[in-house]
Amino acid sequence: MATGFYLLDNPQPITAQYGYPRRGASLSGTCIIHTAECLADLVGADTSAENTANFIRTRADYGSYHTLVDSDSIIEMAPYEYETWQDSQTNPWAVGISAAVQADFWHTYPLAFREKVYRNMAAAAADFVRYMKTKGITVPVKRITGAQARARVPGFCAHGDSGVDRHDPGSGFDWTKFLKYVNEALGTNKEDTLTAAEVKQINAHTTAEVNRGVDKVIDYLGAVLVSGYTVGDVKYPGIAKVDIQNQKEARALDAKVTLALSKASGLTTEQIEAAVKKAITEGAKVTGNLTIEQV
Ligand SMILES: [Zn+2]
Repeated sequence: MATGFYLLDNPQPITAQYGYPRRGASLSGTCIIHTAECLADLVGADTSAENTANFIRTRADYGSYHTLVDSDSIIEMAPYEYETWQDSQTNPWAVGISAAVQADFWHTYPLAFREKVYRNMAAAAADFVRYMKTKGITVPVKRITGAQARARVPGFCAHGDSGVDRHDPGSGFDWTKFLKYVNEALGTNKEDTLTAAEVKQINAHTTAEVNRGVDKVIDYLGAVLVSGYTVGDVKYPGIAKVDIQNQKEARALDAKVTLALSKASGLTTEQIEAAVKKAITEGAKVTGNLTIEQV
């Protein structure tokens, strides 16, 4: 019965390309990023991952990954709990994700092709992050050093940093894009990744917007108090000036005024009420020809 994992479903006639159980270690959340160094298939359906999977299956030396992607496919080669021969320095605790392209040629691939490869790598990485979550390990969406990968720290490491005599996925690999796409694949909220300074800026902006809205209502309320207003078909007269008696009347009319203002301004009744309160306690300021006496 097919398992859905390429290396489990297809025989390796010369050299077994996975091992189970892992040798003396368990998954640490460390993930090594590779390129498979095969020719990228830029024409028609992308067969690079499929061809590389078959190459791995039939090769004599050791070399395999957990997940292999190209621009239009993601091939799960072996379960994460199995060991693959992806990095001699970290194999017992790490997982390997590889793109079926060449490390030195990222800049030569068409943009649309590259984007699809990054998206598939990110989808594979997100799948690993979600899996580790079920094991109680949070894999931070960040790049780690070779020393950290060898020390079993969770995160994403270039094979070029962890391995011996390797340089994949290459200096042309865009780590910022890859990690951004992993976050997007995980559906990580933007709020989660905002800096304290950005949060402060957004809050300040929101407060300023609300204050501007409240000021508008105060002006509008002032005009209403002076010139009158209409609710439904009923026209209510204005009150000429704000004095103690009129303040009481204005308070009695709050509910109607609030509804009318809310409809007219699109603000919430809470915002209107706050503005009405402010207008009555501080005196309403009115712009244009209308003036209103300060209380
Ligand atoms: Zn590699």
